[in-house]
Amino acid sequence: MRTVTIVGASLAGLYAARALRSQGFDGRLVVIGAERHRPYDRPPLSKDFLAREPGEPAAEAGALALSDAEEEAELAAEWLLGTPAVGLDAAGRAVLLADGRRIVTDGVVIATGAVPRTLPGPPLNGVQTLRTLDDALALRAELHAGARQVVVIGGGFIGAEVASTCAGLGADVTIVEAVPLPLVPQLGLEMAEFCARLHADHRVRLLCGTGVKALRADAGEPRVTGVELADGRLLAADAVIVGIGVRPATDWLAPSPVALRDGVRCDEGGVSTLPQVVAAGDVARYGELRAEHWTSATEQPAVAVRNLLAGTTVARHTDPPYFWSDQYGSRIQLAGHRGPKDTVRIIEGGPEEGSLLAVYERDGELTAAFAVNRPRPFMRLRRRLSAGRPAAPAVPADGPAGAPAAVRGATP
Ligand code: FAD
Repeated sequence: MRTVTIVGASLAGLYAARALRSQGFDGRLVVIGAERHRPYDRPPLSKDFLAREPGEPAAEAGALALSDAEEEAELAAEWLLGTPAVGLDAAGRAVLLADGRRIVTDGVVIATGAVPRTLPGPPLNGVQTLRTLDDALALRAELHAGARQVVVIGGGFIGAEVASTCAGLGADVTIVEAVPLPLVPQLGLEMAEFCARLHADHRVRLLCGTGVKALRADAGEPRVTGVELADGRLLAADAVIVGIGVRPATDWLAPSPVALRDGVRCDEGGVSTLPQVVAAGDVARYGELRAEHWTSATEQPAVAVRNLLAGTTVARHTDPPYFWSDQYGSRIQLAGHRGPKDTVRIIEGGPEEGSLLAVYERDGELTAAFAVNRPRPFMRLRRRLSAGRPAAPAVPADGPAGAPAAVRGATP
């Protein structure tokens, strides 16, 4: 292999570049990025970065940078930034760029991540999603310019984090969530109720079970003034953040030479339906799983690259999914494969302590672990999940401090 092209210059793309060099690839390495920025870290965008006073943009991008000049020199890659790829030729041997260039290549790593879902209707000032550094800079400018009434549409992890950060800045925050309770598919009812209670405890309104009918603006004005709910309520808004999930960034591939199904369809080694095209990160569906977590985007590239260089699948990514979320000063962590019928059991702490460790079980076996502010014992369980030791841990002799797992009445 003489040339490998990585499409997507972010977390998975950078880790793929590192893996290629560390695994001995010494050919031409091209990294194509739609954004003008070098790889940067996204998790802070909804957390401390959003809370910070605006500073000089270049310095701010630098603070989030995932690599430094020394590493970039070592990687010896050609960075083609601010130029999205617009296609992969039928044989998977050339990447086409929006500016008309064509990169002939022997191998391709697809690492284009995900793009936020948006609401239908014309764009309005003051309404935005949060995925990129530029999104975060724009939202932060709104918040620091005095946006006081903030409506967050979607109560998932990103929505919850943005709500938490905005509330910390003194804004009056309302979350609108279409389903009866957010995060139930990810956490199950009991732990989702625990997370919902965090909003109420920090004076953030959580309005569940109602969709958004329309965004309102004054006649002829381009700026949002409110959110009209499907149940007829009208919420005043200076800023609206739409956090209704993401979809894999595969539009650029159409018509795609590799199979797509909710992302780039890959085997468990990240190999697509063409052996010289692999994928990693949010865009990649490994077997039945497409993760949208930081840790998967850092673990999958080494596996995918190994298989790319081998020309066939010799390695698989089997580590269970893991993510964390920071809200209202609490660290929430989940690892493993929770199924919809798994039972949950608190083994340390409890809701009234504001910290707990819980296990999900199926037929007496550990399937996943969940923690709020219990990082150390959580990490032990995570290691056990990774090592494939599924026997569920016993409750300590003195029992968990919090008796029932369920927290009722969390949603105001
Ligand atoms: P991305 O980071 O999305 O990068 C993909 C890159 O590809 C982008 O730069 C994009 O512009 C580029 N691209 C797209 N299309 C093209 C194209 N056609 N040509 C060239 N380039 C293209 N995860 C956690 O586990 N914990 C957290 O607390 C957490 N917080 C988060 C907070 C925010 C605000 C966001 C947005 C994400 C958060 N995540 C978190 C998720 C985590 O950041 C992602 O899982 C991770 O960034 C995925 O990396 P990736 O490289 O696959 O995709």
